[in-house]
Amino acid sequence: MNFASLTKEDLAGLLALEDFTPVYEQADQIRREAKGNQVHIRAILEFSNHCKRGCLYCGLNRRNQNVSRYRMKPEEILLTARSAYKAGYQTLVLQSGEDPYFKTDLLAELVKEIASWGMAVTVSCGEIRPAYGPLKKAGASRYLLKHETADALLYNRLHPEGSLADRIICLKELKALGFETGSGFMVGLPGQTLETLAEDLLLLKKLNCDMAGIGPFIPHPATPLKEAVPGSPELTKRCVALARILLPHCHLPATTALGVMDGREKETVFSCGANVVMRKVTPEPYKSLYEIYPAHLEPTDIPKDRALLEEQILALGRIPI
Ligand code: SAH
Repeated sequence: MNFASLTKEDLAGLLALEDFTPVYEQADQIRREAKGNQVHIRAILEFSNHCKRGCLYCGLNRRNQNVSRYRMKPEEILLTARSAYKAGYQTLVLQSGEDPYFKTDLLAELVKEIASWGMAVTVSCGEIRPAYGPLKKAGASRYLLKHETADALLYNRLHPEGSLADRIICLKELKALGFETGSGFMVGLPGQTLETLAEDLLLLKKLNCDMAGIGPFIPHPATPLKEAVPGSPELTKRCVALARILLPHCHLPATTALGVMDGREKETVFSCGANVVMRKVTPEPYKSLYEIYPAHLEPTDIPKDRALLEEQILALGRIPI
């Protein structure tokens, strides 16, 4: 099969294969050739869980009254970023809900300070379009804004305040500003089909993403989708593999934290084409309060968590950086 010109029908067909092994092997080979054996470890700091949006799947949606909202103080953010830098992290992802409190100036100042240490800063704060230019100027090099689903009807149903068209405008603007731009989507959203996932993959290609976060949808009990069926980890990995084939040079995070996987899962976590792993550095009590989906989280110990992750990556024969 000519992998460079895969159509929507081809992709949906591949996702449905009984035995996906040859595709995983192809993805792993492309990953090795295009990205080498390095696994990039990114620190993610979730600095505010305030959000003005009502995304139907997200535990932080503004209608959820059961979550204690927090904003980390700028000094706290810088202290945490500093600890991550000292522990060896070369990239910090600053993530939050869409929180108008963090005005452009304040965010840009934080980015500027952290970037001045030599740390690469990724911002992931949603559709704050007027801030993109100033953030770039302040030294942010990457921006992560998942398109969530390429099915416009489904997108609009899940996002009462937004539209797929607006999201794509933001992504194109980020690209035009020179950001390394990350998109991505959820796998297993209610109403999604294999054809939708094929469209998701083709949209990543069309946007020429530098990075793509592909993760399973996990129902949150305090959202309207609480009764929905969770996304399949296997189907998620298949999507990652196809993303690697479509976009050989893209940074693709492994979908689940290594620490919560059992033996066999752990061994195969990077063999689908992934070359990045994200580790939360958010301190308690905030970490537990940033619950976009339910997960069992251990309190953060920045140097220890990093050392353990490096060991796990080395044990898989890959090189942590
Ligand atoms: N406010 C930022 C960050 C959103 S949270 C923004 O709009 O980009 C980061 C990601 O978490 C989202 O892009 C979404 O893909 C994912 N997410 C949110 N709720 C989820 C859920 N219930 N299951 C799986 N992923 C979820």
